Amino acid sequence: MAEPIISVQDLVKNYGSFKAVKGISFDVMEGEIFGLLGPNGAGKSTTLEIIETLRPKTSGKVFVDGMDLDRQAAEIKKIIGVQLQAAGYYPGLNLYELVQMFAGLYNQKVDPLELLDTVQLRDKAKNKFKQLSGGQKQRFSIATTLINKPKIIFLDEPTTGLDPQARRNLWDLIREIKSRGTTVILTTHYMDEAEFLCDRIAIVDAGNIISLDTPDQMIDDLVATGFERPKQVKMANLEDVFLHLTGKTLRDI
Ligand code: ADP
Ligand code: MG
Repeated sequence: MAEPIISVQDLVKNYGSFKAVKGISFDVMEGEIFGLLGPNGAGKSTTLEIIETLRPKTSGKVFVDGMDLDRQAAEIKKIIGVQLQAAGYYPGLNLYELVQMFAGLYNQKVDPLELLDTVQLRDKAKNKFKQLSGGQKQRFSIATTLINKPKIIFLDEPTTGLDPQARRNLWDLIREIKSRGTTVILTTHYMDEAEFLCDRIAIVDAGNIISLDTPDQMIDDLVATGFERPKQVKMANLEDVFLHLTGKTLRDI
């Protein structure tokens, strides 16, 4: 982790007279997992979609792997992996055929079964996307981001709505993707997830970055102000109970 692979400088996005992103700047380092956290409407998805070349910005500069978004959007597209909206998965095709189709679009040689294996979906190769559970859909959509062997993948709320087992399974998958050298930029509303996964996070509120650091440093800084959490009386929480009772293995494989 040394060089910034993404550099966002004074990025502004207005929707008409509404200011959704108000001049934010941040760098994402090569090989890190970078998280954007913030309440609904903070401007996280807007920011991601601008970097992904999917949404025009109002002003500011964005560089991805040294390339200028204003001049080299087509080249940027080639080195990034983006999750599609569900509507992008042609209803007539099964998972195997969808991977084949995307590989064709990206001009990549990909063994669909091998790719489906990495997200534990080999057995579902003949299923349609709509026949998958929520966790399986997320796993499949993460797999599709990998087809063009990207340097960076973008995951917008990858674990929203999933059960605790599926969430943890995706954490493992995201860490594995990072361990192969891929940079990951994600959004989440789960603070345990951000703490577990992210090397650094930016907290976004109403279009501004209000804090940017490692999760550890942010917590230390808060504690240094004299903040104290109300005394924790129990040694476990309800999620511990749930996982103890139902186990950690995925149900929907
Ligand atoms: P987040 O992902 O942090 O929840 P978004 O980036 O989706 O936030 O949205 C930021 C703000 O911009 C919200 O107030 C949202 O309503 C508004 N917004 C998003 N997309 C559009 C759009 N296409 N047209 C107008 N307003 C939009
Ligand atoms: Mg969003």
